[in-house]
Parts: sequence; C-alpha cells; structure tokens
Amino acid sequence: MTLPVSDYPALWLRDNCSCGDCVAPGTEQKLHGITDLAPDTRIARVEEHEDAVVVVFAPDDHRSRFTHAWLAAHRLDAGSGTRPADDRSEDAKNLWQATDLADAIPTGDWPTFQQDPVARAAGLEALLRQGFFLLRDVPPTDRAVLTVAESFGYVRRTNYGELFEVRVEDQPTNLAFSSLPITPHTDNPYRDPVPTIQLLHCLVNAAEGGDSGLVDGFAAAARLRAEDPAAFDLLARTPVTFRYADAATELSATRPLIGLDPVGRIREIRFNNRSMRPIALPAEQIAAFYAAYRRLAEILYSAEAQLTFRLEPGDCVVFDNTRVLHARTGFRAGGARHLQGCYADLDGAYSALAVLRRGSLESNGAA
Ligand SMILES: [Zn+2]
Repeated sequence: MTLPVSDYPALWLRDNCSCGDCVAPGTEQKLHGITDLAPDTRIARVEEHEDAVVVVFAPDDHRSRFTHAWLAAHRLDAGSGTRPADDRSEDAKNLWQATDLADAIPTGDWPTFQQDPVARAAGLEALLRQGFFLLRDVPPTDRAVLTVAESFGYVRRTNYGELFEVRVEDQPTNLAFSSLPITPHTDNPYRDPVPTIQLLHCLVNAAEGGDSGLVDGFAAAARLRAEDPAAFDLLARTPVTFRYADAATELSATRPLIGLDPVGRIREIRFNNRSMRPIALPAEQIAAFYAAYRRLAEILYSAEAQLTFRLEPGDCVVFDNTRVLHARTGFRAGGARHLQGCYADLDGAYSALAVLRRGSLESNGAA
C-alpha cells in the first residue's frame, strides 16, 4: 500500500529526514533542532519511486527520501496507532491475580540465565510483562545479588549503600529489619526517581514463617477503577508526600498513589503506609480519600491478589518496584533469616532485552 505523501505535514516530514546531513551515521541522533527548520517549510516537489518517495522541500531545497514502509509505520491518520506505545503502562503488561501464577511463577536458574541469551530474554520478558521473575541457584553468598543486577543493568546506589541487609536486628531503624509482618508495599516511595527494580536474594531462611508475597499493583488499581471509578480518580489525582528521615538522611517525594500516563493509563503505583505523611486536601475531601485508600489497600491485601511463596537460600526475586508490591509474613525472632537486596532500574532491563532481541532477529535473518 502506498500512502500519499500529502497525508504528512511538510514540517513533520522535514524534521524526520534520515539523510546523512540530518542524522548522525550509525545512530538515530538528529543533528538539527526545531529552530534550524523554517517555520514555513513546505513540499516543493515529490518524486515517486518504486519503494520510496523523494521529497524536495522549500525554502531550504533539502531532498529527503522516505520509504513506503517507513511512512506506513508512522501513519498519522486517527485511530492508526498515532498514540505512542508506552511500554511502562498497563497496556503493555499482563495483569495477574495470585491464582493465575500459583503454578506458573516465572522461574529460571542463574547459571542458565548467565550463559543462555534465550533464557535471559525470557527472564527479562517476564520482569517487563508480569512484573517479576525468580532466579534459583544464585550462590547464597555475600554480594551475589549485585552480580545478578549487573547481568542486565546497573545497581542503583542509595543512602542504604550498594546493597541492603534484611534480617533481624536488635534495635531496628526500619521495620524491614524486625521480625514483624510487613504488608504489601513498594519500596522507597520517598525517592524521586524511585528505584524501578528491586532484587531480593535469600542467603539463609531457617525461620518459621517469613514467607514472601508479591501483588500486582496494576491489577489492583484496575480492579478499583472497575469497581469505583471516582475512588480511582481521587487516588490518581491526589498528591501524597512520602518521607524518610534518619540521622544522616532526609528524603521526600510527592506523587499520587496511582500514577497515570498522559492518556490516563496506569503507569506507576506508590504504596507504603509507613512513609506516608499527612494528606493535604480540603477537609471535606479527606473522608473520600481515606475510603478510596482503604479500598485499594483491601484489594492489595486480599488473598486473591497476593502470590505467596517461600524464598529458599539461593533464590533471588527480581521485580518491578513501580508495579509489584512485596510483603513478608511475620516470623519468630531468633529464627535465622537473611536476605540481601539491591535496586536497579527498568531502563537497563529494557535495553538489555532489546539488544538480546536484536541479536536473535539478526540470526533469524541469516537462517
Ligand atoms: Zn536530510
């Protein structure tokens, strides 16, 4: 199918020229900015070729070649994909309840993940689609979690260090270091940018209890939207301040519990009762906020939502901290349980997967 070049505004075409004068060779980096292009850019002449059109622009006399395939892939007519894909939003995800994954937890083993690009792509695909994956046979040794993070991205160092310890301490500064149960939450909502990936690696788990839980926050928010659109809207529109402070640190960020992308799709969940500061809303809206917040919490805490499993030594769970909430059942103090965790970011994982796919496409093309 050939699309008439008149379907595309002249300035848009001129800006998207991919010739060697307009784009740095070997990259997709543009060499011009909008102010380098004439505001009255127009099409002076079009030359039709078999698989492409050549457009000559006025007033700069620039010649640009656009293949029919490229034009078709970038159609501007309504309803034909003009809305850009956002691979972080709910549309790009497989939402789940606990029963969907009870016997199908995306699982790989660390030696294979390291050696086999297909296994690595499958793990990253699960992280980006389901929001998490589990790796077994990671040596239960100090700092191994950092090696896992570095296999597909970059460790995000924070005030907690390169990694953090999760185990019973005598005088815990943070609930994570106590033996109390911890309800589902996202980590570090008081940080902006928030760490978008979290890894938890089990070194020792001889405690009674201390099981791990994961909840799909996008699925929970979507359920709230279906049940009570006004409650969903209130949580999406109300900025909430999250804060953390200790002797050396003072962090805060103000974001809604449900973050939406510019076209209203669910894109980010921040949920952590421990670090929420007072809600600042007109007094008459407070009751409605608390009702909506309570209902979202009830959905997140429900048995249908929470996928529960036990981390054994050598298990490392990797999850999207903008979507998947994690929880821990209580355990008896004194029972040894030791996890090491660290943060990383989704951009690195998306890049690693895209490059792995590039490799497989090339090898398919050669076959
Ligand atoms: Zn050009």
